[in-house]
Amino acid sequence: MLLAEIISVGTELLFGEIVDSNAAFLARELGARGLTLHRKTVLGDNLERVTDAVRLALSRADLVILGGGLGPTDDDLTREAIAAALNETPAEDPDLIAWLEGLYSARGRVMPQINRKQAWLIPSAEALPNPVGTAPGWYVRTAGKVIVALPGPPREMHTMWRKQVLPRLPLPVRALQATTVHTQGIGESQLAELLGDLTRQANPSVATYARKTGVDVRVAASADTPEAARELAAPVLEQVRQILARWIWGEGADTLAGAVTHVLAGRSLGVIEAGSAGALCTLLADEPTFLDAAVTQDHRRLITLGLTPVTLHAQGLVSEQAARELAAGAREHLGAEVGLAVVTAVQGERMGQAYVALDTGHAQHAATLNWPGNAEQIRERAAVLALALAQR
Ligand code: ATP
Ligand code: MG
Repeated sequence: MLLAEIISVGTELLFGEIVDSNAAFLARELGARGLTLHRKTVLGDNLERVTDAVRLALSRADLVILGGGLGPTDDDLTREAIAAALNETPAEDPDLIAWLEGLYSARGRVMPQINRKQAWLIPSAEALPNPVGTAPGWYVRTAGKVIVALPGPPREMHTMWRKQVLPRLPLPVRALQATTVHTQGIGESQLAELLGDLTRQANPSVATYARKTGVDVRVAASADTPEAARELAAPVLEQVRQILARWIWGEGADTLAGAVTHVLAGRSLGVIEAGSAGALCTLLADEPTFLDAAVTQDHRRLITLGLTPVTLHAQGLVSEQAARELAAGAREHLGAEVGLAVVTAVQGERMGQAYVALDTGHAQHAATLNWPGNAEQIRERAAVLALALAQR
C-alpha cells in the first residue's frame, strides 16, 4: 500500500482567503488511482514550519505532495524547505536558467534576478517542466520515497500532475470490479438494515445510493487481476441479489423502462398521462413496445378516453379510481394490449399526489405516492412510479 500526504503551502490558504481546492483535487486523484491518503496539512509561508512538516510527512508516508510556494518571491519557500528537510543544498541548474531566460526573451523582456531561484535543483530532485507557467516543479526521490512539489495556481497544478507526475509515480496495479444492482419500492434505510454487516466491509464493499429510479446497491472489489476481483465480489453480489430479490428490477446499464419492456414480453403498451406532461412518454420513448399515448389534462378529453364523470365529480381526477379507469381506457381507446395511466397534480390542494394504474386485460394494479417537490420533481416521480408498477 502506497501512503500519501498532502501539504498545501500559502498564508492565504491558512487564513481562508482562498479555499484549498488543490488538495481536494489531489485527494480525488489519489483515491482513484489506488493510493491511500492519510493526511492533508495547510501551512503558511514559513520556512521552519514547512521544513518540519516535510520531515514529519516523510517519516510516515511514501509520497509527499507539496502545493504552492514555487514562485520567485521571498515568501515562496517550498524549495528551501525540501532542501532543508533533506539536508541538501540547492544550486542553479544551467538548463533551467536557459529555459527561464528563453521564456522572458520570447516576450522581449529580461529575466528579473529574483526568478533565478526557480531554476534551483537539489541533487535528488528532477525538474518537472511547467508548460503553462514559469515555476518548474520538483520530483524528488529519496530513500525509496517520493516528494513532489507543484505550483499553486490550479491550472498549472492540474496540468503538471497529469502530464509530469502521474507517469513517474510507481502506481499500484489494481483491477476494480463493480456491479450496480437497481431496486424499487424499498427505502435506503430499510435496505441498509437488510444488508446488515455486508455494508461494513471494505473489500468487497457494498454501498447504497438513493437515485430517482430507486435505491442502487454497488458491490465493488479490487484485486491484482480483473478475474480475481470478480471472484472476490461474486459471493457478496450473490448474497445481495438474494436478500433484495423482491425489489431488484435490473443491474448495470439496465433502465426501468427497459425492465417494463422485458415484462411486457412483446405486448403493446398504451399510456395516458394527466398532469405529468409527458414525463412517462419521455422515459418510454426508446421502448419498442410503446405503442401510443395521450397526454392531456382536459376533462372532456379524458372522459372520451375512459374517465367516468361520476369518478371525476365524486373523487376528482387525482384519485386511484380515475387512474384505473384511464388504464383500462388506454387499452380500449389507444388499441394497446396493456394500459398504463398516471394522474398527478403539480399545483393546488392535491399537489404532489400521484396515482398510477396498470391494466393488462386480466388484472389491474395501482400504486400511489404523495411527496412534496417542484413541478418537475413531481412529474418525474409520478412517471417513475408508473414504470415501477409496470415492471413488476
Ligand atoms: P506562483 O508562481 O504563481 O507564485 P506558487 O507555486 O508560488 O506560484 P502560490 O504563490 O502559493 O503558488 O499560489 C499562487 C496562487 O495559486 C494563489 O494566489 C492562489 O490563487 C492559487 N493557489 C495556491 N494554492 C492553492 C490551493 N491549494 N488551492 C487553490 N488555489 C491555490
Ligand atoms: Mg507564489
